[in-house]
Amino acid sequence: MDVNDLQDLYQQVILDHSRTPRNFRVIDDATSTVEGFNPLCGDQIRVFLSMTNDKVDDISFQGKGCAICTASSSMMTQQVKGKDREQVHQLFDRFHHAVASDNDTVDPETLGKLAVFIGVRKYPMRVKCASLPWHTLKAALEQSNQVVTTE
Ligand code: ZN
Repeated sequence: MDVNDLQDLYQQVILDHSRTPRNFRVIDDATSTVEGFNPLCGDQIRVFLSMTNDKVDDISFQGKGCAICTASSSMMTQQVKGKDREQVHQLFDRFHHAVASDNDTVDPETLGKLAVFIGVRKYPMRVKCASLPWHTLKAALEQSNQVVTTE
């Protein structure tokens, strides 16, 4: 598979998730819910998080966002469900590094399906769209724990 085919595939995945977002619903008994807003683009989402024994028991989102933001939210919910707090933080760091840094040391293998978002680093405006759900999730994680991390 050459680079162009891969780009097409990535685009298909993003389009699919933006048109049919997964876990797009409200969790009534969420342990925490945080709203995220990206004024540059107008993305506005709310992440619902339900933690049990420090694990993501359930996660969902609602809101209005562009295709990148909606697809990123959708894929994030799929990727973090069932993971524990530490694993979610690791995934956040990997994802953030992949989309926000401009060096090429990112190994797509470590990102799994989230590798489709590596392409957004070429579009600085879009980086915020892709990372908004992750920042919102991080805030939701910290709120439920009531402990401020040093990071
Ligand atoms: Zn956006």
